[in-house]
Amino acid sequence: MPNEKEGVQPRILHPCHQVAEQENMVWVCDGAANVGQIGHEIGVLLTNLGKARMCCTTAVAAGSKPHLDIAGRAKRNIVINGCGNRCASKVLENAGKKIDYEIDISKYLRKIPTLDIYEADVQRIAQIIIDEAKL
Ligand code: SF4
Repeated sequence: MPNEKEGVQPRILHPCHQVAEQENMVWVCDGAANVGQIGHEIGVLLTNLGKARMCCTTAVAAGSKPHLDIAGRAKRNIVINGCGNRCASKVLENAGKKIDYEIDISKYLRKIPTLDIYEADVQRIAQIIIDEAKL
């Protein structure tokens, strides 16, 4: 969620292409439903916790060479899907990239057509991912 506090400087991350080999790269589907948006927030949270680094899933789908390269060099690819359609996983599979861990959030939270999400759900499912993926 955006940090709009005055005077707070943005935390600048290392570019994905510089850290891929050392990082758990996170690929979220960012779907337009509660489960997709929760997945997005989990990607942000894991990145800000220093447990992983969110990268641009859409860029992989678009065939962006630098991003295909990042997915190929990643220490691990952690894929966060909102529902059983597994769109983010299919993006990596279609690109021929390995998936080291994937989750379907709708197994833990009912998919609802809303963009309103709750921090408690983000925290609960993030913890499942941290535990299962050993982040
Ligand atoms: S996995 Fe589900 S929530 Fe995510 S983009 Fe695909 S259809 Fe939408």
